[in-house]
Amino acid sequence: MIRAGVWAVSVALISLPGGCGGGNSAPAPPEDGGNAKPEFRGFDAMTALGLLKKQTDFGPRPPKSAAHGQLKAYLVETLGQWATVTQQDFEQQVNGVTYPLTNLLGVIPAATRSSKTAKRSRAGKRLMLAAHWDTRLVADQDPDPNRRGEPILGANDGASGVAVLLEVARILSKDKPNVEVVIALFDGEDFGDYLYGSTYFSKHMGDFKPDQAILIDMIGDADLHVQHETNSMNAAPQLFNTVVNAAKELGFEDHFDGREIGIWDDHLPLIRKGIPAIDLIDFDYGPVNSYWHTHEDTVDKCSAESLRVIGETLLRVVYGM
Ligand SMILES: [Zn+2]
Repeated sequence: MIRAGVWAVSVALISLPGGCGGGNSAPAPPEDGGNAKPEFRGFDAMTALGLLKKQTDFGPRPPKSAAHGQLKAYLVETLGQWATVTQQDFEQQVNGVTYPLTNLLGVIPAATRSSKTAKRSRAGKRLMLAAHWDTRLVADQDPDPNRRGEPILGANDGASGVAVLLEVARILSKDKPNVEVVIALFDGEDFGDYLYGSTYFSKHMGDFKPDQAILIDMIGDADLHVQHETNSMNAAPQLFNTVVNAAKELGFEDHFDGREIGIWDDHLPLIRKGIPAIDLIDFDYGPVNSYWHTHEDTVDKCSAESLRVIGETLLRVVYGM
């Protein structure tokens, strides 16, 4: 993600408590001991973690890099197994350089049901589940000034959201929900301070225009605490409450700690177009968010369990519609 929203920058950056773990704890395998819960709707957390690692194996993935192109091809192929994928290509001028960017839009149709069983009031609804797939060109928050010009790996900020959505897409494609789902993988989110992909999409939505949208970003943190994002709560309070309640029903309330924060992220261009959109984000990555936009954003700071929390919560929400 880019940064805290303009109206809450100082509050957000100062008020977040430090001491969050997030350290080098290994991913917790879901099969550990007798406490392992059955995975809701078959969300496979280790598969999701593997999808996260697969992305980081390409290296940093900023626009115009070879790895960016390689990942795009991988995502088209992978998401294409479970959804009908459309590539939304566009060019973006940044400091006199032209960057080709691509939003990937994967459509999973709603279940076809008889008119007797169809929920008429919900028929025809389209839900967007979104994340950004690009990674940041520079590690501008890194403590080492000599490495701030290098691109970050983006295990959490980039790969985590995409990993969850790919695993969710796999499940939705096998067991269709009552609503059409569009998996949106936005490009150019972490490229400078602009939301290029989601902004472009918001101006060219066409038949992909969602009735509501859930964005996920930076949700792989092994010490996962999703904040209550204020733009989301203002724009779509009902949807936000539905998500939080779904998390509680699954026993994940400890991961939604109620702290409020305003975040500048890909949900804002959708909100500006009148779409109820929310952002699930943990903007407290490492002690005092010290891994954010640094070279500490690596796979070992993420966990399968955190991906499971978000993946299962999303599935509960989607299947409840
Ligand atoms: Zn970012």
